[in-house]
Amino acid sequence: MIQNQAKCELCPRRCGVNRNIGERGFCGSGAQPQIFRYGPHNGEEPPVSGTHGSGTIFFSRCTMHCVYCQNYPWSHDGKGNLISVEKLTDILIELHTLGCHNWNMVSPTPWLPFLRQAIATAKNKGAVRPVVFNTSGYERVETLHEFGDMVDIYLADLRYAFSKSAADGSETPDYPQVARKAFQEMWRQSGKLRCDADGIAVSGTICRILVLPEHSADAISNLRWLADNIGTDLDVSIMAQYTPTQRTKAPPWNRAITRAEYESVCVEAEHLGFNNGWIQKYEDQTDTALIGFHMTECVNGN
Ligand code: SF4
Repeated sequence: MIQNQAKCELCPRRCGVNRNIGERGFCGSGAQPQIFRYGPHNGEEPPVSGTHGSGTIFFSRCTMHCVYCQNYPWSHDGKGNLISVEKLTDILIELHTLGCHNWNMVSPTPWLPFLRQAIATAKNKGAVRPVVFNTSGYERVETLHEFGDMVDIYLADLRYAFSKSAADGSETPDYPQVARKAFQEMWRQSGKLRCDADGIAVSGTICRILVLPEHSADAISNLRWLADNIGTDLDVSIMAQYTPTQRTKAPPWNRAITRAEYESVCVEAEHLGFNNGWIQKYEDQTDTALIGFHMTECVNGN
């Protein structure tokens, strides 16, 4: 099926709403691309950020509702500006001109049909960058089939292994089975991370394991699943940076992770034989500053 906004089934929620006539599904996305910020971003994994930054576009809206979301002003509350596909194309060209290593689409799923048009036009105009699909991991295999040809690098979370965790943290009880199936498809399409002579990613797959408070068992279970089903050749990024927002009131989500929680996940990764990827220093947990605010704001319209 060709996915479009007239009967939106782009993500596993499969709301079936007609976004073109004002109907809104779980994510609240409408009939026009909506973007919060864009610009060079240096906070991704080293081969993605490189030396010139990752050309990142923070799309408004999200197909998950994580109680701890750092991006809540635009992912939950819908901040951001409506733009045309032509403006989206101009942004891609601008990021290319700035020398960014890639086009890094953060939570792009509701906007994939627009992105296909914009990327094709930008390429026709001579702007070509690897496309990074930066996702929570909650994706439909059918959508990955349909749009996978425009993706070079999957930068995908695998966050929950247990349905209760996913329901409590993100209102997404089917996350474990859905995200694992989706990850297998991403790996089938893109395989192992490949970099150029300067160490900049050109294609492949990175799995992000964000360690969550009181949920290190989810991270460990997912690492074991990855080792058994994908292989330890995969590049994994084990993240210590969980930070509750001012909205995150309920335990356990309202605290940072402990050193013991983080180290238990890192030890398991080493034990399983994962040798490629990144861990963070526990001390390097970021503060509560929201990312993206230093970037360029899109203006409404064209
Ligand atoms: S992208 Fe949004 S509207 Fe479409 S199926 Fe997913 S949640 Fe529903």
